[in-house]
Amino acid sequence: MRENNNKIWDVIIIGGGASGMMAGSIASSCGKSVLIIDKNKSLGEKLKITGGGRCNITNNEPDLHKFLKIYGDGAPFLYSPFSIFGVKDTFNYFESRGLSLVTQARNRVFPVTEKASDVYEVILKDLKKNNVSIKSNCVVKKINTNNNLIESVETDSGLFYSKSFILATGGMSHPETGSTGDGFKWLKNMGHSVRNPTPNIVPLAVSDTWVKNLAGVSLSFMKITFFLEGKKQFSKLGKILFTHFGLSGPLILNSSRNIALLLEKGDVKAYIDAYPDTNEGKLEESIIKTFDANKNKTLRTVFKDIAPEGTAKAIEEIDLSIDFNMKVHSITKDDRKKIVRLLKALPISVTHLMGYERSVVADGGVSLKEIDMKTMSSKLYKNLFITGDLIDINRNSGGYSLQICWTTGYIAGISA
Ligand SMILES: Cc1cc2nc3c(=O)[nH]c(=O)nc-3n(C[C@H](O)[C@H](O)[C@H](O)COP(=O)(O)OP(=O)(O)OC[C@H]3O[C@@H](n4cnc5c(N)ncnc54)[C@H](O)[C@@H]3O)c2cc1C
Repeated sequence: MRENNNKIWDVIIIGGGASGMMAGSIASSCGKSVLIIDKNKSLGEKLKITGGGRCNITNNEPDLHKFLKIYGDGAPFLYSPFSIFGVKDTFNYFESRGLSLVTQARNRVFPVTEKASDVYEVILKDLKKNNVSIKSNCVVKKINTNNNLIESVETDSGLFYSKSFILATGGMSHPETGSTGDGFKWLKNMGHSVRNPTPNIVPLAVSDTWVKNLAGVSLSFMKITFFLEGKKQFSKLGKILFTHFGLSGPLILNSSRNIALLLEKGDVKAYIDAYPDTNEGKLEESIIKTFDANKNKTLRTVFKDIAPEGTAKAIEEIDLSIDFNMKVHSITKDDRKKIVRLLKALPISVTHLMGYERSVVADGGVSLKEIDMKTMSSKLYKNLFITGDLIDINRNSGGYSLQICWTTGYIAGISA
């Protein structure tokens, strides 16, 4: 139903994801009348699936310089906003509202309950307490401007007027959560420079059956080395998760930007070293010992003790021209060396990166140069404030995306 809504709000927030909800909580606590418009039935749909449902809410790296380094070229722009609302403030915001946080491996911070829905509930409670109006199931179609000011937003249920507008429609990752890139289009049409979004922090698709057959297996201490047209590019050490389409896990997700660049240039292969802290000689010695103790067993049986746990059957499928039915005592030295080399370099053919439906964030967005980072206001439209994934800030996984949402949402909330 279309509404003829003549009320002029103090603040209208377009998009009620992580940054929009934070902005609403803060603007309303400053005594502003606030309306959040969202096209979904419920706010925070993406927030509720963050961190695999556990919500990696921020990263507890105490050294600000080190923390901001993660954002690459964006870092110099972020000192000022982080001096207004940083990681400590995130802790204070949530803990003072009854949500205890815990720091886990690699400084990643989660709610003690490990439930992303609890993070959502805490902010929603605040919105309700502060009488924030929420218009859900309402699609914003257009932003109306007049003399470098935003005047109103046109929705599928009428026009809404406000003194200030916070644009928080998110990026393009997981579009089923509501972030379909509408904000990028509006900002472009309004004259902002918007770098075209591309999926980032995204898993890899590969063509190898052995990888896909390991779907669900995760190996915690692996080294993976990437090659472009046969030339070594870079290596990473850590946990690798095998999926039905290829590879994932933090190490892969955080390498995806570099891999995307390689894929643009040519053929990309990767090799997993299943024993990164053992050289070929030492690995062979250990295999010889296992073979000596199991001479009359088949290679298939013994290989289960040689390959990383749970991987033997899948690895066997890599064409080595070795008969896994033969007895260990008949294995030739050449075959043994082949096995050693294989475990030190399991071959993978990377075909492409997965798309928005699997990416954690989309790179790209509105240029940092066009935002006043002390207020998050657009330099082109003084009563427009821009937050969260709409801003062109590269980042890794580990709580760094949500911290941008809390910081920019807070600042937009106090400034709008
Ligand atoms: C699977 C997954 C896991 C993640 N895990 C983590 C994690 O653990 N830690 C971390 O730091 N980051 C994580 N992220 C990234 C993080 O979720 C995002 O950075 C963050 O949610 C972005 O918030 P936002 O406010 O910018 O936008 P969003 O949360 O995307 O919200 C945008 C809102 O705008 C609404 N909207 C869009 N267009 C319109 C329109 N035309 N009209 C009305 N409403 C509209 C949408 O419905 C949506 O509610 C994860 C992302 C994904 C996809």
